[in-house]
Amino acid sequence: GEVIQMIANPVTREQRVEGAVLLLINETEKVEREQLRREFSANVSHELMTPLTAVSGFAEIIRNGMVRQEDVQKFAGRIYDEAQRLIALIEDTIRVSQLDEGETPYDWEELDVCQVVRDVCGRLKEIADKKNVHFYIDGDKTMLYSVRPILDEIIYNLCDNGIKYNKEDGTVSIHLRDLGEQVEIRVKDNGIGIPPEDQKRVFERFYRVDKSHSKEIGGTGLGLSIVKHGVGFLGGTLDLASEIDKGSEITMTFPKERKTV
Ligand code: ADP
Repeated sequence: GEVIQMIANPVTREQRVEGAVLLLINETEKVEREQLRREFSANVSHELMTPLTAVSGFAEIIRNGMVRQEDVQKFAGRIYDEAQRLIALIEDTIRVSQLDEGETPYDWEELDVCQVVRDVCGRLKEIADKKNVHFYIDGDKTMLYSVRPILDEIIYNLCDNGIKYNKEDGTVSIHLRDLGEQVEIRVKDNGIGIPPEDQKRVFERFYRVDKSHSKEIGGTGLGLSIVKHGVGFLGGTLDLASEIDKGSEITMTFPKERKTV
């Protein structure tokens, strides 16, 4: 009797309920994704409008001859700065989207993480010196199968933040550890720290901690978003620990062999 019933009614009640639940989860995810996409578009437009409005305003003042000759250069400087900010925003946005889509124009290769870290610190030396921030690299040659420009950008953004949100004479230390199957990279600073309520949100696109101090510091609010998507792309894990006025620490692990995404 049971077999006949199953043939007559091949989808059992449990399966239908399961199906409905799955459909509901799918729908919820779809709504959430849609919501994120809408928020993202609103943010992008807002972030692009601010510098564009400034560019347009300064250009108009110059065009109307409302600026003294000696101030023209100053205004042109402002236009240049705002245009640079626009370029940075658009480039960063494109980078996040590409990583989000799982696309990269670059190749996977065997890399020495320590060398990547040393190169990044070299590039940041000038900014670090201005604040007398010191780099400390703990670890030596550590091989990882990865995508150089992505790993490079992850470490660059983290070290750059470690300097930007630090005090004079602070330190940024990078610790490398071979865990056998994985490589651990930890970037630690003894800077201003991130309030507990902001710690989850700093990885969102355009999110910046609303403390006058960090708002004064230049940035697009996309750095950590690029880090998050980059780490995801490389199949790694990401963890943040931070304490106000003590500093922040980001710990990442990457599988040594390529994980297909
Ligand atoms: P940006 O630095 O361009 O503002 P990020 O996405 O890199 O954007 O960081 C988002 C926000 O998180 C920053 O604006 C800052 O408020 C906070 N933040 C990031 N890194 C640190 C850090 N190491 N120490 C303290 N605050 C940080």
